[in-house]
Amino acid sequence: MKTPVYMDYQATTPVDSRVFEAMRPYFCELFGNAASKTHSFGWRAEDAVEKARRQVAELIGASAKEIVFTGSATESNNLALKGVGEAYRDRGNHVVTVATEHRAVLDVCKHLAADVTYLPVAQDGLIDLDQLRDAITDRTVLVSVMYANNEIGVIQNLREIGKIAKERGVLVHSDATQAVGKIPVDVAADNIDLLSLSAHKIYGPKGCGALYVRARDPRVKIAEQMNGGGHERGMRSGTLNVPGIVGLGEACTIARVEMAEEAKRTARLRDKLRDRLAADLDEVYVNGSIEQRLPNNLNMSFAFVDSESLMMGIHDIAVSSGSACSSAAIEPSHVLRALGIGDDRAHSAIRFGLGRFTTDEEVDYVGARVTEVVRKLRELSPLYEMRQTVPDPGVTGHVSQSRS
Ligand SMILES: *Cc1c(COP(=O)(O)O)cnc(C)c1O
Repeated sequence: MKTPVYMDYQATTPVDSRVFEAMRPYFCELFGNAASKTHSFGWRAEDAVEKARRQVAELIGASAKEIVFTGSATESNNLALKGVGEAYRDRGNHVVTVATEHRAVLDVCKHLAADVTYLPVAQDGLIDLDQLRDAITDRTVLVSVMYANNEIGVIQNLREIGKIAKERGVLVHSDATQAVGKIPVDVAADNIDLLSLSAHKIYGPKGCGALYVRARDPRVKIAEQMNGGGHERGMRSGTLNVPGIVGLGEACTIARVEMAEEAKRTARLRDKLRDRLAADLDEVYVNGSIEQRLPNNLNMSFAFVDSESLMMGIHDIAVSSGSACSSAAIEPSHVLRALGIGDDRAHSAIRFGLGRFTTDEEVDYVGARVTEVVRKLRELSPLYEMRQTVPDPGVTGHVSQSRS
């Protein structure tokens, strides 16, 4: 086994070598501009792009003409929210989204000249469908709910969400960047009108994404956000990233063929890691629903341990904490805060992201290292000591004081 061990597949994934081989010819030999209509260089590039469009469409149950290539899922989210906001302004300016969305949705909402409702989530990370129903008004133009969360892996019930929005004639956008290629996603069955995805989360290259835009029942209009050239049927101008798009297409085909098997494998490894940590350590918690969850995500809190200290102790293992550096201090993420699990649990959260190349050996190693370092850190913790010797449950009240 090689170190460092990569267990941060929700942040990005390596390019699958099969994807890389598919891309390779499109750099130096087949380098044409897909918009060149007058020669074979352009035609070859266009053929490759159109094949990729079909490959992406097939993975999510769309038709090829409904796929718009972009530079990232961030761009897809921007195009969906701003594009719909602008195109449907005469209908209203109210958007409903969720507190646990990715920054690439939340920051766009903040930027929109719109009235935004942020639905809360329960401690399992799921929204309440009745609250969604109540939030929709006659001025609502869009409901944007992520398919699966990038931090806690929790899967929202898009099928029901879509049904509720459809009854009210409201469009649904889903940031499905973490879900696509990991679990079955079908824009028809799931009642989704716009969907964002990204190549680099599914073993494709960075800098390539796509937006699905429904073409019928209803035909969704979006206002272009990038002017110049009218590429992608006027929805996204700019010369197409042909190698990137070829890579995204190949990544989608591999995911479609191998998804079921891979999900089974990563879920087994994930559960093995969770069971090991839960057996070896007391006071560990899984953050977010266990049932409604991506097969490759484990987000776990280790009480009395600071996630930054833990990550420093396991420096040969690449994971993420649920925290981000704000101006003054390390703060728990908006996602963990939204769960209402308390600061202590949020400050001790670690995200383990497993993937296509994760091995049993790596899981065993990570399990052993984390156990060792958590035990060591707890030995140094007077609060943990106290917790062990004084069986008064009221003692947990002291824990929060350590964070002041
Ligand atoms: C990674 C990620 C994004 C951003 O994707 P990029 O292609 O890196 O811009 C957006 N949403 C979710 C849920 C993600 O996981």
